[in-house]
Amino acid sequence: MTDTPTIPDAHLDRAALTAASRQAMPLARGLFESIRAATFDGTGVSRPPYSEQEQRVCDLLREAALGLGLQTSVDAFGNLYMTLPGRDRDAPGWITGSHVDSVPSGGNFDGLAGVVAGLAAIATLQAARIPPRVDLTVMGVRAEEASAWYAGAHSGHFGSRAALGLLPPAELDAAVNTRTGTTMRAAMQAAGFRPDQVIPGRGSLDIARYRGWLELHIEQGPVLEGAGLPVGVVTAIRGAARARSCRCTGAYTHSGAVPHEFRSDAVLATVELVSVLEAQAEAVRGAGGDLTYTVGKLFTDAQLHSITKVPGQVDFCLEFRSQDRTVLDRMIDGARREAARIEAARRVRFELGSFSPQNPATMDAGFRAALVRGAADLDIRSMEIASGAGHDAQDFVHAGLPAAMIFVRNANGSHNANEAMDYDDFEAGMRLLAWMMAH
Ligand SMILES: [Zn+2]
Repeated sequence: MTDTPTIPDAHLDRAALTAASRQAMPLARGLFESIRAATFDGTGVSRPPYSEQEQRVCDLLREAALGLGLQTSVDAFGNLYMTLPGRDRDAPGWITGSHVDSVPSGGNFDGLAGVVAGLAAIATLQAARIPPRVDLTVMGVRAEEASAWYAGAHSGHFGSRAALGLLPPAELDAAVNTRTGTTMRAAMQAAGFRPDQVIPGRGSLDIARYRGWLELHIEQGPVLEGAGLPVGVVTAIRGAARARSCRCTGAYTHSGAVPHEFRSDAVLATVELVSVLEAQAEAVRGAGGDLTYTVGKLFTDAQLHSITKVPGQVDFCLEFRSQDRTVLDRMIDGARREAARIEAARRVRFELGSFSPQNPATMDAGFRAALVRGAADLDIRSMEIASGAGHDAQDFVHAGLPAAMIFVRNANGSHNANEAMDYDDFEAGMRLLAWMMAH
């Protein structure tokens, strides 16, 4: 999908870069604190897409960017761009950043860390007197989470997909705020932006002007914390295959009077399918493959069932996630094959429905290798890690721009007010970002 740009070894002065990144930390801390104060809701931070709070985040970031002497602009969808011109203005530049919105009562660092890291990395290069070779642009992306807009079928990531020309306009109407009833289209319009400019294939970002997308983000799982490492270099954002409403139909009969060879027991059939798939998933992982397997719902109808009845119906869902599309396809095939086998053996019927697989987004191999080398060069302990959660980076990959992600260790999970990122870990990840953007 992407060619692999070579990252030359630019032998930066490690000590000078470290001293400069420490000098940039008061700017980062100041932004984290002022933005938290401006968007605190009593429990966590709330920055809904196209809200006053989200605008306030952009205003504070823009103010900091102007303080660094950056050029700023805003596109038709409210995304904020802050650019430090490079020595060669015609060469494709780096674009870095993340989202400025949050889930309701979320944590201060999800998304924001990536935008603040972009500004702090630029401040680091300025303090180290390293003039960038190419333009460095920091992007504050609008409306990534959209988690309170569940009423319709949409895939979130409104700001980045609109900018990249990947957003079907119908999703602006399908996404309805579950609290207020407002559509995303109306919210974008009311905030002063242009939903009518959401045109597939015609984004506001010309990706030909960029060399790659770099995104620093807190890790939203426990892996770095468990490994005792401050920084992760992301291999890929997992794709998913989800069958949302599966059903097994058997027959309700008497639990004492009907011998087993005459039964169509929906519970035992479903449990067999679920556990056979677990064994297959373990085999994939055992062979070094990447796969998570989750049965998030599994239930009988308590109104129809009783202790003396053979169960006649079970509803359930299946979810596979992997950074490897062929693994997803193999598991979908496996689920259908096993369901057919169990149907014949147990006289039941399975309806699995569609799995609608989403492609994984693989991070650029050259960028990844460069980040691993950079971390070693800067004495930052790191590991390679897959991202289980979705990020704006996947949209850039799908648009055809090579991308890379830096994860920063974060305790207590994410999408809650207790997420905890250590500023020393952030400084390490931000320094690695600055190192990368200097190349
Ligand atoms: Zn995020």
